[in-house]
Amino acid sequence: MHELSVAESIWNILEDELKKIGGGKLLSVKIVIGELSGVVPDALDFYLNLLKDDKGQPDVTFHYTHVPVKFQCGSCGHTFTVDRPMFACPQCGSVDVKIISGNEFYIEEIEVE
Ligand SMILES: [Zn+2]
Repeated sequence: MHELSVAESIWNILEDELKKIGGGKLLSVKIVIGELSGVVPDALDFYLNLLKDDKGQPDVTFHYTHVPVKFQCGSCGHTFTVDRPMFACPQCGSVDVKIISGNEFYIEEIEVE
C-alpha cells in the first residue's frame, strides 16, 4: 500500500510539471531510487503503470536508476558499498562510518512530447 501512495504523489508531481508547460504527452520518466529509500521498485512500477490510463498518459514508460547504499569511513575517508549489514570500514576497520548515499528518491528527468 505504501507504494500506491508514493505512485500517486509521483503522478501529482508529473501533472504539476505538465501544467507548468501547458500540457503534453509524457514519453518517459526517470526515477532515482536509493536502496535505503524504503521504496520497492517493482511495486512502485506496478502502481505507476496502473495509474497511467487514469491519468490519460498511456504511452509513458518509467525508468529507474538504483542507487546502492554507500558508506564513508570517518577515519581514513575510504568509501565503500556493502551487500549485507556491516558497519565497519573494510580498509582500516574503523566503525566511524556514515551513510553517504542510498536515501535518494526523486524524479531525475521527464520527457514530454
Ligand atoms: Zn577506514
